Amino acid sequence: MLEDNKLYLFCQDEVFEYETYLLVKEFFPKKEIMRQKNETGAFLICEYTKAHTKITYSFDGKSDGLELDVLEESTDEKAYKNSHMHNLYVALWTITGIRLPWGSLTGVRPTKFAREMIGEKKTEEEILRFYEEDRFVSKDKAKLALSIAQRETAIISDTDGFDGYSLYIGIPFCPSRCLYCSFLSGPVLKWQNRIEEYLSCLEKELSFVSGAFAGKPLNTIYIGGGTPTALSAEELKLLMEMIRRHTETASLAEFTVEAGRPDSITKEKLTVLKQAGVSRISVNPQTMNDETLRLIGRNHTVAQTVDAFHMAREAGFDNINMDIILGLPSEGCKEVEKTMKELSILSPDSLTVHSLAIKRSAGMKDWVKDLKDNEEVFADDPAKMMEIAYGYVDQMGLKPYYLYRQKNIAGNLENVGFAGEGKIGIYNILMMEEVQTIVAIGAGTVSKRVDSPTQIGRCDTAKDIALYMDNIDDMIARKQELFRF
Ligand code: SF4
Repeated sequence: MLEDNKLYLFCQDEVFEYETYLLVKEFFPKKEIMRQKNETGAFLICEYTKAHTKITYSFDGKSDGLELDVLEESTDEKAYKNSHMHNLYVALWTITGIRLPWGSLTGVRPTKFAREMIGEKKTEEEILRFYEEDRFVSKDKAKLALSIAQRETAIISDTDGFDGYSLYIGIPFCPSRCLYCSFLSGPVLKWQNRIEEYLSCLEKELSFVSGAFAGKPLNTIYIGGGTPTALSAEELKLLMEMIRRHTETASLAEFTVEAGRPDSITKEKLTVLKQAGVSRISVNPQTMNDETLRLIGRNHTVAQTVDAFHMAREAGFDNINMDIILGLPSEGCKEVEKTMKELSILSPDSLTVHSLAIKRSAGMKDWVKDLKDNEEVFADDPAKMMEIAYGYVDQMGLKPYYLYRQKNIAGNLENVGFAGEGKIGIYNILMMEEVQTIVAIGAGTVSKRVDSPTQIGRCDTAKDIALYMDNIDDMIARKQELFRF
């Protein structure tokens, strides 16, 4: 990394250090932010006092200092932090001339403010004013957040919320590893001989769950990964039988299986899932361009995606989701246009539009580092690509129903789930909005006990498949500790 690609960031108040870093990174996505004081290179120093926010900076040939009064002096830590984040945004906007679509919001769930305000009976105008004036969110994103929060509120009220629970089952195997993947996933061929053992570990966990949650309504089941359909039809059948043995489905509103990779889907597997009562599946293209699929190591073709989709329809699935990623290497507006055109013809019941976020554990991180300096593989107009995708989604009659943001997300944008009438992914809302306990079983999963909006406990399992299996009793003991009712 070149020295002039570094920006030294020093934050005098440790309490805000992380939020400050996140917001600075949004303004300088291409710079490596070094969290230390160094006034010889490019730097930004943030000092927070009770009455002022002081920013001193030097980068790209500009250097100066700015001092802004806090909105109101307060002893309340949250108000104090909000005031400084507000000032930091104003300072960075003044210095760079850049406005961010999500303004000063850096969190994963920007819709939660709208949901809280709906709960407090605030009007639409008050909610939009909060986003646009207090947090500098663009008009379009503010409206998006509000419409999603309204849909989420209606769906959540139809579930058992805090009184019920949802079950997540992780299958950490895939046909091959995608370049952008940061999930726990092992090559299914390599693990073939231990899959039965993995399934029996899942059964041990399921047996604990059915005892601990006896009498509590189970609202949704979500099998993700990895690629659950990387399992053979026989293995999937075993898994489905286990689930049937250990769960009470009277209150079940949704049963999703992320079929994911089209190259793992067969007629036989779809029949197993359908017969087991799976109500929603995902067939994920990510892109409808063969060249990109090759580049990102997906090892399947667009034709296989189309075939898998039709196969799922023929098997009787009337709720099929598809996932796409905007901003993949070598893709620009033209490629997004092609993807969206082809998806409109397939007409999935829901579509999740992701913006590429390069995670630390993804192979893409090293791949990018290895590129020659002048090789530009990422388009620099993520907002335009998103506009194209959202335009098609609208024509397809799908409405936004859940949203989340990630670190290092392209263009300060977002990931949004869109769905047709009655096809909303309920689990996605319950999980993302933290309004229900999610018991997660399998390697590399995180369970969340949600008793109220402010009482949330977590426990995880080993992020290594072999470690998970070898220590299954410990994995269950962690859950016993979290789920003492
Ligand atoms: S299919 Fe999904 S989980 Fe599997 S390697 Fe690709 S991104 Fe990762």
